[in-house]
Amino acid sequence: MHRPDAASEALTDAVVRYAVDRVRMMPPPLDHPLSPDELRERAGRTITPEGLGGLEALRVFGDVLAPACLSVDHPRYLSFVPAAPTEASILFDLVVGASSIYGGSWLEASGAVYAENEALRWLADLAGFPPAAGGVFVSGGTAGNLSALLAARWRWRERAGGRHDRTRGLMLTSGGAHSSVAQAARAMDADVVSVPADPRGKLTRSALDATVARLDDDERERLFAVIATSGTTNAGVVDDLAAAADAAADLGVWLHVDGAYGGAGLTASSIRHLYDGIERADSFIVDPHKWLFAPYDSCALVYRDPAVARRAHTQHAEYLDVLHTEHEHASQNAFDWNPSDYAHHLSRRARGLPFWFSLATYGTEAYGEAVEATLRTTHAGAELVRAAEHLELVVEPELTIVMFRRLGWTAADYQRWSDAQLRDGESFVTPSAWGDETVLRWCIVNPETTPDDLAAIIDSLR
Ligand SMILES: *Cc1c(COP(=O)(O)O)cnc(C)c1O
Repeated sequence: MHRPDAASEALTDAVVRYAVDRVRMMPPPLDHPLSPDELRERAGRTITPEGLGGLEALRVFGDVLAPACLSVDHPRYLSFVPAAPTEASILFDLVVGASSIYGGSWLEASGAVYAENEALRWLADLAGFPPAAGGVFVSGGTAGNLSALLAARWRWRERAGGRHDRTRGLMLTSGGAHSSVAQAARAMDADVVSVPADPRGKLTRSALDATVARLDDDERERLFAVIATSGTTNAGVVDDLAAAADAAADLGVWLHVDGAYGGAGLTASSIRHLYDGIERADSFIVDPHKWLFAPYDSCALVYRDPAVARRAHTQHAEYLDVLHTEHEHASQNAFDWNPSDYAHHLSRRARGLPFWFSLATYGTEAYGEAVEATLRTTHAGAELVRAAEHLELVVEPELTIVMFRRLGWTAADYQRWSDAQLRDGESFVTPSAWGDETVLRWCIVNPETTPDDLAAIIDSLR
């Protein structure tokens, strides 16, 4: 099992061939889900005492299991937030797997951590964060938001000198915030005050100021963070980050900016102004696995003052403390940067490496251009919707989400159409909700998605 044998060569060829063929498929099949019964019938029992052998297990994957997994990089996969990893990032994901790197500590992974930190530095610079900023790649935006908010609460309690160690914390966010913020609050047993978003789902200065003015003394005491969203997931609009920064400064609390989806827009000069104010945040996240062309799972979490995060997150144990004493003399220096210390985790894959390798391969300019390309496709798509008499645009796109209604359709009509599109391998566009209304929503993060793809979908909605 651990030594190459007679079967190894054939398996190597087959696995590498499979991976390379899949990377090069343009476009890949959209595929569709199967029921547990269908999968049981087609795949049969795969875990047996003797083993299937690698070639047979690969056959089951390729013939049965993979076709039952949607290809998120299909150009007409436009639901939720798709992904469109670059060729270099995917190929390097194979290398990361082959390299057996423990990505948690500098001692064990200095080279990988150096490279991950280069990629984080690029993002920190795009946001205008200071040289001391830094962070870590975590599994996704949900983990990133929770880790940032744990650090925020830590700083609040630290500053209170023990007065708030048992106080239930409170965070302020907007109605457009992602569900993972509420989930973080549940996990932390904290409260959330939600600022009513404007009709497009945006946090505005006036609504924020009004909500802040209504906080009572107890709530102000308990408040430890303001959370703004730089790219809401449903409608793709950016909160007023300068207003959020002003409010956080006035209140003396942490500002976290959730850019899991939209943070990638920092690379695009045509929309960079939407992010003004992010440079004053205490932390932000952006998911390279969303709109920065990296494979799952990858969320970049960046702190203005990583020392706070380190105090909040470092685990102490007999067998671990060697990691923290070895280089104590240089605890502020990048050369003892332990990624484990900056989030709610310990063991970790060096998951920032595929993104790093792709950035190193293509250069940062290619990223700005690819993001701009998706913005152009989005605007072309919005124009097509405006021009179609059976459709109506619901929200003017700010990033790369187009939300629109099919005039005269009920929720059931939308669902029937969506199911048929997926069944026929045409597109994956699930209904979303806008207030009480069922609507359609495209999220365009794939530079391979063209206006023709969108026109074909519009045709099918007649
Ligand atoms: C997608 C998203 C998240 C959650 O990210 P995961 O990587 O799916 O955990 C959080 N916030 C926003 C704004 C998002 O769009």
